[in-house]
Amino acid sequence: MTIAIYPGSFDPITNGHLDIAARAAKLFEKLIIGIYEAPNKQPLFTIEERVELVRQSIVDLPNVEVKPFNKLTVDFARRVKAQAMVRGLRMSADFEREFDMAMMNKRLFPELELVCLMASAEYQFLSSTLLKEAVSLGGNINDLVPEHVAAALRKKVNSKM
Ligand code: ADP
Repeated sequence: MTIAIYPGSFDPITNGHLDIAARAAKLFEKLIIGIYEAPNKQPLFTIEERVELVRQSIVDLPNVEVKPFNKLTVDFARRVKAQAMVRGLRMSADFEREFDMAMMNKRLFPELELVCLMASAEYQFLSSTLLKEAVSLGGNINDLVPEHVAAALRKKVNSKM
């Protein structure tokens, strides 16, 4: 069975992430969205909340699952027996960072292939960071995330004010 992981912090999941997940799900028999706990990034949502937001976003994608992880991405890949790792590339800043990480990961797990999918034009500018900033300033983000994520974001931001 071809298994791929799609790792990230997903704080929270956006339509840009979902677009990549749906496209990758057509390439592999199983896609596992791996949610990195990322304590150093001080995420807005807890790991449990992020997993749940992803779970509710992938109900229409039968070969996609979600699992949390908190150590090296390559160890997570080994544990779930993945042959490939999927990442989304936006035009602006992603390439250099991905390239550096890919070189390191190749050393740590040479057999794991990296598959980068180009972000779709409508989501090139979309990042979880910008999204959180927009919500905290009262912006309308309804077209950028699933409805349950928009609701969770508004609730979280209001609870912090
Ligand atoms: P990380 O903390 O690893 O950057 P993210 O949750 O921000 O995790 O992103 C996970 C993956 O999804 C990364 O490969 C990132 O480049 C990609 N990604 C993020 N936003 C988008 C988007 N709008 N369109 C396509 N891919 C995206």
